[in-house]
Amino acid sequence: MKCNIICNFAPKNNFTRMITSATSDINRLTCQLEKAAKTVIATHFKPDGDAMGSSIAMYRFIRQYFSTDVKIVLNDRFPSSIAFMVNAETDRDILVFEERPEDTVKAIQEADLIIALDFNAFHRADRLGPALSASSAYKVLIDHHLNPDSGAFGLVFSRQDVSSASELLYHILKATPQCGGKAAGLPMESAEALMTGMTTDTNNFANSTYPSTLLMAAELIERGVDRDRIVFNLYNQYGENRLRLLGHILKDLLTITDDGVAYVVLDKDTLERYGIEEGDTEGFVNMPLSIDRVRMSLLLKEDKDRVRVSIRSKKGISANRCSKLHFNGGGHENAAGGRLNIPEDISDMSQAAEYIERHTHIFITEENEA
Ligand code: 5GP
Ligand code: MN
Repeated sequence: MKCNIICNFAPKNNFTRMITSATSDINRLTCQLEKAAKTVIATHFKPDGDAMGSSIAMYRFIRQYFSTDVKIVLNDRFPSSIAFMVNAETDRDILVFEERPEDTVKAIQEADLIIALDFNAFHRADRLGPALSASSAYKVLIDHHLNPDSGAFGLVFSRQDVSSASELLYHILKATPQCGGKAAGLPMESAEALMTGMTTDTNNFANSTYPSTLLMAAELIERGVDRDRIVFNLYNQYGENRLRLLGHILKDLLTITDDGVAYVVLDKDTLERYGIEEGDTEGFVNMPLSIDRVRMSLLLKEDKDRVRVSIRSKKGISANRCSKLHFNGGGHENAAGGRLNIPEDISDMSQAAEYIERHTHIFITEENEA
């Protein structure tokens, strides 16, 4: 099918012009959306608020203006703490590899358009990675992490000077002919999901907040998004166990090294004892940064076959570099993630503390010398 979409609106403000790529890229995106019979939206494993927010927003936008055949593919199910943003109709179009592996891979194989949100390379989709890479579909990346694997995509929207994938997607969707430069053109479900994703990735405006982020928030509230309800759902709906575990962490588990590295190791026993589910420890890794001598904070959680690592750092220390060099991961300058593999990195959980202390000491010493 020939693409003849002409983007004939004038962006209204500098932020939009600054954040969105060339009009030709927006045209290319809408052209692909118009052509596609089957679209798959993919995001990173262990999907968080930004991963789900951007995916749902894209899903509802496509459903409203383009095709009805859209699937969101996930490696594993989103945590119940953010389930409020997924309505029953959307949920029917979500395929989770851990629950329905064949259907999920089949959807990827049949897609003629794949939109990757909130991750920089297909391996971040874990067991969906091989099928996504192998697909002959046209591939679009919309992401805010460092080091995008640009060669794997036909069209790349990658910006690091935004709060979140949700924010980047907001500026892109707003700039489409369908929205004509106005937030009012967004379906309400998209608008709410984008506000939610931006809110979780900024820790409710505590970090990564740019002028374009506040502009987005203002325009979405004007669009009618009930931000109070979103904040209530995100932060006032946890079980008691979360705060009880936090008490235990702060009293007994938090260690701070002479290098100013704070770390906490949560083994399976502890997670089970407190009945902790995915999403319940959201925000914990940021808290030790409130201590003046802490420059970097790590939270380790024992998972099925590996240890997941979250890293946050203050300005001047690169969480991304630390994760890349010592924790098999990456992310953003001051917020990154990774993993320790058993037995390659540590033989069991009892080795985790020693590994962290040794490797962060090497890292901080090198940073100080640089
Ligand atoms: P979190 O600690 O919340 O899991 O992750 C912090 C940030 O780093 C998130 O934006 C997340 O997407 C990113 N991240 C987590 N793990 C990895 C990884 O292994 N590689 C890369 N490139 N980014 C990661
Ligand atoms: Mn994100």
